[in-house]
Amino acid sequence: MNQTRSTCPYCGVGCGVIIESDGAQITGVRGDPEHPANFGRLCTKGSTLHLTASAAVTMQTRLLRPMQRATRGSAPEPIGWDGALDLAVRKFAQVIRDHGPDAVGFYVSGQLLTEDYYVFNKLAKGLIGTNNIDTNSRLCMSSAVAGYKQTLGADAPPACYDDLKSADCLFIVGSNAAWAHPILFRRIEDAKAANPALKIIVADPRRTDTAEIADLFLPIQPGTDVMLFNGMLHLMLWEGWTDARYIAAHTTGFDALKATVRDCTPDRVAQICGIAKDDLLQAARLFATSAATLSLYCQGLNQSSSGTAKNAALINLHLATAQIGKPGAGPFSLTGQPNAMGGREVGGLANLLSAHRDLANPAHRAEVAALWGVPEVPAKAGKTAVEMFQAAADGEIRALWIACTNPAQSMPDQSTVRRALQRCEFVVVQEAFSTTATCDYADLLLPATTWGEKEGTVTNSERRISRVRPAVAAPGQARSDWAIGVDFARRLEARLARGHLPATLFPYANAESVWNEHRESTRGRDLDITGMSYAMLEAAPQQWPLREGEASGRARLYEDGVFPTPDGRARFVDTPYKPVAEAREARYPFSLNTGRLRDQWHGMSRTGTLGRLFGHVAEPSVQMHPQDMARRQLAEGDLVHVTSRRGSIVLPLAASTEVGLSQAFIAMHWGGEYLSGSSSTGERLAGVNALTTPSYCPDSKQPELKHAAVKILKAELP
Ligand code: SF4
Repeated sequence: MNQTRSTCPYCGVGCGVIIESDGAQITGVRGDPEHPANFGRLCTKGSTLHLTASAAVTMQTRLLRPMQRATRGSAPEPIGWDGALDLAVRKFAQVIRDHGPDAVGFYVSGQLLTEDYYVFNKLAKGLIGTNNIDTNSRLCMSSAVAGYKQTLGADAPPACYDDLKSADCLFIVGSNAAWAHPILFRRIEDAKAANPALKIIVADPRRTDTAEIADLFLPIQPGTDVMLFNGMLHLMLWEGWTDARYIAAHTTGFDALKATVRDCTPDRVAQICGIAKDDLLQAARLFATSAATLSLYCQGLNQSSSGTAKNAALINLHLATAQIGKPGAGPFSLTGQPNAMGGREVGGLANLLSAHRDLANPAHRAEVAALWGVPEVPAKAGKTAVEMFQAAADGEIRALWIACTNPAQSMPDQSTVRRALQRCEFVVVQEAFSTTATCDYADLLLPATTWGEKEGTVTNSERRISRVRPAVAAPGQARSDWAIGVDFARRLEARLARGHLPATLFPYANAESVWNEHRESTRGRDLDITGMSYAMLEAAPQQWPLREGEASGRARLYEDGVFPTPDGRARFVDTPYKPVAEAREARYPFSLNTGRLRDQWHGMSRTGTLGRLFGHVAEPSVQMHPQDMARRQLAEGDLVHVTSRRGSIVLPLAASTEVGLSQAFIAMHWGGEYLSGSSSTGERLAGVNALTTPSYCPDSKQPELKHAAVKILKAELP
């Protein structure tokens, strides 16, 4: 039996795994006892990785060879790799020549490895000359990026998992870690068991499993987080719980924020957030007066039309009380996907450049152009996720390359997204699985490797970079994502005849050579990883920064009180409260929330192949509070229409006291199944994203997947 150390491909906890194989097939998986994220433990998803890998083979859900569609709606036909890439080059070059580089777009994924991300970012911004490259991570953490940058000066989570052991207060907001980050939640339970004095506050519109561990649960109304945080700061000021010395020595901008929170009185906060004033006071006291307070937060803050303000308002609390830069304290955003962090590090978003550089900064563009050996990186802002599909629906983007993600299920406002995919002149889908809804729209399908077959690196929520290693050979003709990108890029270089450029901008022989270029691009930056070679990562995963010559990375940031801003001070951000983009009203009286289940992952292309993972939740439903059901004379199991301004779906109703009154919850995983039978030409269900809104945060461009106004009516049976 062969044993290969690698990393779980699901969530941002980034657990280490040991893959067992017989050389040809993956036969088992267990937690890596030496990996500092999980110390050998795995959740239900991680511990069944080997079963989902083999199920994909037996159920024939893998894409095994390049396929081409002669016309939309027709069955795809095999095509060789050379023919496939030549076709892609011809189509992309033609669109670029006829309509300019901004007529093409790349939509990638937080499940790509850092090396994959690096290649596609350079391909779009360096070779083609468009910043139209964005990622499904835009849907999960771009508000955290913007929040860190606005307040602390850099996109760098300052805390680490070990801080759970030193914390005296945990403030968990907008995160159902018990289901979305299960092994991290085990560590929270461990911390509570080891320190019974540890106080846990959970703020969430839903009473989730995470809330069960709370000493204080704040069931806030959807979207009112900023008012909660501002109200806590109001009380901290009133009670004298802020740290004037820290504020004076290490921050700027507090006076403007003080003026804003002046009218966030307990009465007003209680009324808007729907919580008791005493609970608000207790939360403010615990947060401010505990020796060390650590905040953990995720999509409840990020997936919001005021996502950046929510992040900033929470970080304001840490700065005001000096709960940062010491063991057990700090704002700690959790990443949903396994490598959302790596995508941020290589600048794989429309507004970013390599090593946390900003596209809007001319000096940063010049630095990256020099690193890549190109005359310039274009200044024009690229299209972010929602903008990219809107531009495609409007005919502005004509060719799309989609890698390792399934926008025909996961993007909000599915009618627009599907219209975009239909209207595009040429759509490439680079995928490991042939079953995603987006595959239906592909003119060209390119088979990619997946977990157990891939080589590279990922970064987890605590800035820890781990190696991903192949245990078995890729099936069929599947290739590594970075290698597909390089092969396409070299052919496109020849086609575009950029004589002023080096022979190739993509001289990579393997994933390590991509990594080495990436780490050199970080020299002197906040995330400097020039000391982090593959050889070093062979020995153990490491946290960044880790500069050349250093033996290990940094567990915690800002312990010296110096921040990566021009004056070295953190910045308070003025965060006036704004309600959700689409308020409840008489015609749409419910707040619809969306989220993950414990045992499923995204569109279920992997987890959906294993029966036992449906043991927890077997089928989709819409959850509603029993009092709302009684008022509407609805019963458990009734089929109901859930309707928003954008679409309607039919689901069975499930009674749940987890959701509040006038609220509803639908899991994000279903959708993308065929309406009838298994016809590959039938219409696909759009799932909950038929209903969700494309409204997004103006700073982060992250859409408000956590709230849409809907009505719920009993379905009339024919
Ligand atoms: Fe994988 Fe996340 Fe579970 Fe760890 S907690 S095993 S990374 S899904």
